[in-house]
Amino acid sequence: MSEKTTGLIHHPYRPPAGFDSPQVGIYKASTVYFPNAAAMRSTRWKDKTGYTYGLHGTPTTFTLEERLCTLEGGLHCVLAPSGLAAIALVDMALLSAGDELLLPNNVYGPSRAFADGELSRWGIRYQTYDPMNPADLEAKIGERTRLVWLEAPGSVSMEFPDLPALLRVCKAAQAGKGIVSALDNTWGAGLAFNPFDVLHDGQLGADISIQALTKYPSGGGDVLMGSVITRSPALHQRVQDAHMRLGLNVAANDAEAVLRSLPSISIRYAAHDHAARVLAQWFSTRSEVIRVLHPALADSPGHAHWQAVCRSGRAAGLFSVVFDERYDQAAVDRFCDGLELFRLGYSWGGPVSLVVPYDMPAQRGPAWTQHGRLVRFSIGLEETADLQGDLATALGHL
Ligand SMILES: *Cc1c(COP(=O)(O)O)cnc(C)c1O
Repeated sequence: MSEKTTGLIHHPYRPPAGFDSPQVGIYKASTVYFPNAAAMRSTRWKDKTGYTYGLHGTPTTFTLEERLCTLEGGLHCVLAPSGLAAIALVDMALLSAGDELLLPNNVYGPSRAFADGELSRWGIRYQTYDPMNPADLEAKIGERTRLVWLEAPGSVSMEFPDLPALLRVCKAAQAGKGIVSALDNTWGAGLAFNPFDVLHDGQLGADISIQALTKYPSGGGDVLMGSVITRSPALHQRVQDAHMRLGLNVAANDAEAVLRSLPSISIRYAAHDHAARVLAQWFSTRSEVIRVLHPALADSPGHAHWQAVCRSGRAAGLFSVVFDERYDQAAVDRFCDGLELFRLGYSWGGPVSLVVPYDMPAQRGPAWTQHGRLVRFSIGLEETADLQGDLATALGHL
């Protein structure tokens, strides 16, 4: 051991205060120092007035939380290691044995898998409801319902629900029962509509909004992260307490990567949106395809609901097509394999265009009545004409 070791660990040099630059630094820590024992006893992190331990927040994560609140119009945020972890955190924070959970029948698949795999073992049951039929949600809310998940639109089948109607059902049922509405806002990303004020009249919103920051906020296809945002201090406290007890953390480098991408999220979202609409329109002219599912297309399910809620006219760069029944699995696989710019891969929101063939009957069961095979596209940031050329060539492989 070198006699210099202690000096290296307890070095007296302090850089001058006052360094300031566009991005907050990458603060990495498990241990956080306190100036004295009294400070150790009294420092509070829950309201962001101080730092106590890396898991409880650093300048990097506090800054990201605050900026995400701005993005979504919320007041309180916690970060989770993935979008799915954010969903599971909400479930665990709010549900107890004997409670019931309601999921839309087009819910992000792993959310239902968590309910099947974990929540059911803990004595928490779930039912699915038809998000395109608010009366079905109303009928399924029961004495034991505590949490209702919402998603707009379904991220594979792309139907846009009547979000205000679904939220009104939740609010009406809420009276005295403590039912919480939680929206998976990954598609809207805080840009297409305001999750806490869906009609811009200050009257109606979700209680909680989660996002897979993995998608547009990261924008790079290289970070996994999620957020749970609310306007309610009481709900925030329940989520924050569960988050602390579960020991969930996000890495400082990842938080900084999202902070770096946030300033460009609005122009990236617009570029993805524009290109996706051009390509969705183009697909509607192709005889190989019987349906194009994109909420901004007039004949896509829930188009009017999208118009009512997304008054900005914005949409994510995501759409699905249903191929004519004459194309079997092998033909559609040939199409996907024939693409060169579009890569086969899950997720979305990054620069690279992606394609996924889905087996909808297997995913949705009897709720899926469309014939023909569904393929979902996530449009990246490549030149739209190049993407269209790639799609046209690959259609030749059908
Ligand atoms: C990707 C996604 C998630 C989960 O995000 P991960 O970070 O991949 O866990 C949740 N909901 C929706 C709608 C998604 O698209």
